[in-house]
Formats: sequence, structure tokens, C-alpha cells
Amino acid sequence: MDAMIAFFVARLLQLWKIYRRKLFLFLTAVFVIWFVDCLPDRLFDDPTSTVLLDKNGKLLNATIANDGQWRFRPREKVPYKLAVSMIQFEDRQFLSHSGVNFTSLGRAFFQNLSSGRVVSGASTISMQVIRLMEKNPPRTYSQKAYEVFLALRLEMSYSKKEILAMYASNAPFGGNIVGVDAAAWRYFNRSPEKLSWAESATLAVLPNAPGLIHPGRNREALTKKRNRLLKRLYTCGVINKTEYELALIEQIPDRPAALQQKASHLMQRFVSEGKKGQTITSTVDIDLQTKVANELLMHHAYLAKNHIENGAVIVASVKTGEVLAYVGNISSPDVDETYVDCAVAPRSSGSVLKPMLYAKSLEAGIITPKMLLPDVPSKFGNFSPLNYAETYDGYVPANDALARSLNIPFVYLLNNYGLGKFHRNLQQYGFHTINRPSRHYGLSLILGGAEISLENLTNGYTRMAQELSMGKSNGIYLEQNQPLADVSCRTNPAALFEMFEAMTQLKRPGSDRHWELFDSSQKIAWKTGTSFGFRDAWSIAITPEYVVSVWVGNADGEGRPGLTGFQAAAPLLFRVLDQISINGEWFEAPKQEQTSIPICRESGMRANEFCIDQQVISVPKTCVENRSCPYHIPIHVDPSESFRVSDKCMDIFEMNHPVWFVLPPLNAHYYRLHHPNYKDLPPWMEGCAQQSTQASFSIRYPRNDVRISLSRDLKGSTGEIIVEAYARSKSTVLYWHLDNHFLGTTSTFHQMNCSPRQGKHQLTAIDQEGATQTISFEVI
Ligand SMILES: [Zn+2]
Repeated sequence: MDAMIAFFVARLLQLWKIYRRKLFLFLTAVFVIWFVDCLPDRLFDDPTSTVLLDKNGKLLNATIANDGQWRFRPREKVPYKLAVSMIQFEDRQFLSHSGVNFTSLGRAFFQNLSSGRVVSGASTISMQVIRLMEKNPPRTYSQKAYEVFLALRLEMSYSKKEILAMYASNAPFGGNIVGVDAAAWRYFNRSPEKLSWAESATLAVLPNAPGLIHPGRNREALTKKRNRLLKRLYTCGVINKTEYELALIEQIPDRPAALQQKASHLMQRFVSEGKKGQTITSTVDIDLQTKVANELLMHHAYLAKNHIENGAVIVASVKTGEVLAYVGNISSPDVDETYVDCAVAPRSSGSVLKPMLYAKSLEAGIITPKMLLPDVPSKFGNFSPLNYAETYDGYVPANDALARSLNIPFVYLLNNYGLGKFHRNLQQYGFHTINRPSRHYGLSLILGGAEISLENLTNGYTRMAQELSMGKSNGIYLEQNQPLADVSCRTNPAALFEMFEAMTQLKRPGSDRHWELFDSSQKIAWKTGTSFGFRDAWSIAITPEYVVSVWVGNADGEGRPGLTGFQAAAPLLFRVLDQISINGEWFEAPKQEQTSIPICRESGMRANEFCIDQQVISVPKTCVENRSCPYHIPIHVDPSESFRVSDKCMDIFEMNHPVWFVLPPLNAHYYRLHHPNYKDLPPWMEGCAQQSTQASFSIRYPRNDVRISLSRDLKGSTGEIIVEAYARSKSTVLYWHLDNHFLGTTSTFHQMNCSPRQGKHQLTAIDQEGATQTISFEVI
């Protein structure tokens, strides 16, 4: 038996002698392969917080990571003070060892051996990176050996700077705070780069004992620990005596504070764009963002009395296209639907697109800035627009129609310019929510028939301001280093210049309100808008430097009386403008695109030979195409100029031929109400009339001077009467007014319902030739 054992031993030894070299080589190869491949490609793959920074790297917003940890994106390098503090506290040989400090590892091994358990770690920062990667496994000798190899391997693939950054990004800092970024913001409310020596030292000692940060407890132990590190920094000569002494008196932080939420809607928007878990550097300026959000909150206190609950404000820089403030809603727990980002919600545009049509019409040469546009009750197919105040001027200069935001002149203008063409223009300026064919909107497009977002609006006007001031446009953008591509100009700069000029003519809100503080000498182009049913109030202001836009309303679409651009949005607009330091500059006139032409002072059109009162004004070159004034014409009158005559009744040499300003009859009817100097044509001399002057219609009911008794319902409202007229011609159209309030038009059957209140009234009917009949009646 012994011989057998001896034989096997001898045989094994023989085999060992033959194969030991090969075995050794094989095992070495296995180890090398393992060693080369032992580190995963990505050492840390944990979910991260979404972090939103302002344009200067200040924290605007942050959300917790998916695993419930406050963990920011890993950083690439550790700021100096923090790096020195961490190395001095954790691993003084860090910069010289190769991942493992064998001297201290040997010392620790014997200490642990003598105590019978693992008491001393002797882990280098590199080994701690491995422990963090391994999610803090139990401390055993085999685990330690494993960490040693991985740390050595780590050092072969990564620089010291990278390894320290990995450690700083993944070390625990108490509670659910991971990494120096989350820690610096939550404990000190600033970025790691801005920390003092005392703060850096506090963070350096924390990963070693994150439990020390519990509020109210262990503060003394933590202070001692920090101070020991500060002393070491002092004795090593890293900080001087003064720095040391000042650092000692700094307070240890309290419990971690909640992170600020300064731009929640912007954050929400980036997340919806797939940027969850990323650190995003936005274009927003945190100081302006805070001021604007506060202004909106204060304005809400005023609006809430009228149950207007939501609002949004955007401020953009014209020069750079950066969005400097983006407040998507009122930030208050008391506000309904505060989560809705009203800056991107599509809402009815009201009148805010009118200036663009004005510019486009100037560019097309169909108007001059002062050309008279019709302002009379009108029907465009089935569309019968009304002016906001339901009054009519007959004719009104184009720039005045814009400043007063009259509806009828602009519907007329859109009809002339071309609905399809303007629809395309809006697409070119990025109004992507206007995505139905133009016929879907019809001419109401210019009165709020389409929906736009506050962001679209800001982008469109910023681009126009950029085109005028820089000759190119890139629109607005929200994320740093991602500006949009330059887009060539879409509108003639001289037309844009006139548009902004006309927009300065809006009357500023009166001094009885709280917005008079705004410097009235600053030239500002601005416009308000109100949607049908008082659901949306808009206002936008443009200077060569900034575009500020405001929307207020209810996110659920509820309309409120008084929810108008002028009353509800403009005060906030001026308060926000007040927060921006505007340098007082104005757009430079694009002289090469302008020309001077004589225009008729009364019609605002190119002067014809009969226009007596002319003025030379600077206009876009395209206005040269504008037709000449058709309203100044020579007429034939008798020598006393009291009657019109014709060659039927007077020799041409006896007549006088004065030039008369003659408007079409219906327009003249309204025009004369606002222009007392407007002179009607003299009546025809008897026997001279070329046409019958007999009225084409007569009012049948009510009769002049009648008293009408109307029944009242329970609420005290009076019933209706049906007014009626008879017209001789089938083509007659009548325009009905009750006490200068427009009732509507009739054709063929001239009957119209109306509900006059108790008291005296005047009923007027006018035909398209301007013939008028007025009767009086009284409701008792
Ligand atoms: Zn004229």
C-alpha cells in the first residue's frame, strides 16, 4: 500500500516537473485575461437627477433620480479646495501610489489580525472607488484582495484626476445625497466650485461618516473632524493662518435644505423632450427669472380677485436669441392648474398678429403707413367682423388702425393682402400651431381665429427684431450651445421698421393704475391682444434689446369679464419691463430700403395732382407701388360754390372747379362723425342732377316720434321690437344703428330685431350710397 502511495506521489512529482511551467503559464494567462477585463466599461451606471442650470451655471431646478437618490451627473474634475481636502483626509499618498498603499495595507492587515476582526480599512481613494462601484460589499479579506487588484487595474485605465472625480461624484454624503454636487447644493446652496475651505473640508470628511450630518446630533463630532482636517491643511501649508482661523469659525451646515425650484416648467419641458437625468445648462438668467416669477405672483394677487388664475411670461434677448426668463405659470400652492406650462399651450391669438400683417402689407406696397383703410360695418362672405368698441370711423389711417387694434380695417387688409400668403408668412415665422389650411381659419385668422403659443409669439417677434437690427435671425432658444441655425430675413426691413414705429403709438396704460412707474420716455413697440369670449389676454413689447411677452387667463379656458390684453396683461408687461435695464436705444432706420414720397395728408396715399395738402414722408421703397389718392377730385359748382352743376344746366365757363375730398357715401357717413371738418358734396342745383336723389328706402316701423309700450320679463328686461324698412331696389343693403350702436345689416327683407331699453332712442338706417334716415321713438 505504501508502495502504491509512493508510486503516485513520485508520478505526481514527475508530472509536476513536466507541466509546472505550462500550468504556471496557463494560470498567469488566465489571471492576465481576468485582470485586463475585470473592470466594466461603465463603472457607474446609476440613474441621475435632472438638473437645470442657468446660463452662468447657477442651479435653477433639480429633481430626484429614479432610484430616490439626489445624485447629479458625474463630474469630470474636482474643484481645487475640495480635491486637496479629500486627498488630505482620505489618502495623502493618492497622487504617488499606484492604486494601493501597500505600507498602510500591511499595517492594517496586522492590526486586523491582532484584533480578530476587520477594524482598519487602509483603503486608498482608488480602492474606495471600487467599493462604491461594488455598492459597498462586506469587508472581508478576500473582498479586500479583490479591491486591491481592481484598484491597480483602475489606475491603469484612468488618470488620478478622473479617479478623484469618480470618488467625488459617487461618495455618500448622508441620507439620500450622493456625490459632491448634490451635497454642495443641498448643504450649502452653491456649486462645489464656490465652496469655502471650511465647507470643502466638511464635505471631505462626510463620506467617511455620513451619519454625522444628522440634524441636531453629532454636530460637535463633525465640527471636530472638520477642524482636524483644517489643521492639517494649515500645517501642510495649503492654507495660511488667517484662512485657517476664519475657516474655524464657520458654522457646520444644518440639515440639508430642499433644492430651489426656480424654473419648474422649463425643467418639465426638457424632461418631456427626453432630457431626464441630464444636467442641462439653459439660457435663463436666474436673477431675472426670479424677478419675473415674483412679478407674476404679485400680479396674480390682483387677477385672482376676478378669478383669473394662470399666467406666463417670457423674456428673450434680441441680440443673442437667448430666453432669459421662462415662467410657465404662477408658482403658488393656492393656484389651480399651476403645473400647466402656459408658455407652450396653444391659445387664441386675439389681435397680436395684426402688426405682422401691417408689415407684410407695407412690404407688398398695398398700403403706406398713413393710408386710409375702410372702417364701416362690413360683410366678407359669411363673416361679419365687429370692432371691439362696436363703433366705426368710416376711414382710418393704417398706423392708427394698428395702434387702436381695429378689427374691420385689418380684415379688409388681410382680404387684400391674401389669406393664403399671410398663412404662409406665419409658418415662416415659426407659428407651427397654425397647422390647418388657411381656409379653415378664413379671414378671422387676423382676429384670433387661430391658436398660437406664447413661445411662438416671442419667437416670431424676436426674429423680426433680429432681422431689422442684425440683418439675419436665429429666433429664440432655451439651451446653451444649441442656438438655432441662422435664418435669412423674411420681411423687408423698412416695413419692419414702420411696424415697430406704429407699435410705439399704442397709448400706455393710464396713470390711475400701478404701472405708471414705468419710464414713459423709453421708446417701446408693444401690442395687446384679447381673444373672443375674454379667455386670453396677451401683451408683447419689443425693443432693440429685448422681447417681453405675457399671457394671462385660465388654463381651463374659462373666460372672465375684464380679461383683456390691456387690463389684465399689459400692467404685468410694464412691471417686467421695469425689471430690465433698457438702454434707451431704438432701431436704426434702414435708409437704403426707404425712400421719400409726397403723400396726400388726408388720405395718406401717394399724392395726386389734386391733393392740395401734401407732405413728404419716408416710407419703405415698396410703397412707391401704392396707388395714388382717389379721393381728391375736381367737381363742378356754381360761382357761389353752393350747388353742384353739370353741363346740362350751366355753361362750363361759368362754373367753378374746386377740388373736393370725396369719400364713398357709407364711409363718409361714419367719417364725418369723427371729422367735423369733413364737407359733404354740395347739393345738386335744381334741374342739374344727373341721377334721382330720391331716397332708395324709408323706415316703416317704428314711425317717427311714436311711444312704444314693451312688456318686461321677470328680470326687468324689455321685449324686442322688429324695425322695418322698405327699399325700392332689390340690391339695396341697409346698415342699422340704434343710438349710434351698430345693429347689423339687412338686404332684400329689411327687418331687424332689437331690444331698446326704456327711454328715448334714435334709429338710423343707411344704404350703401350713404343715404340716411333717422327716426326717434320712446319706449315706455
Ligand atoms: Zn388726396
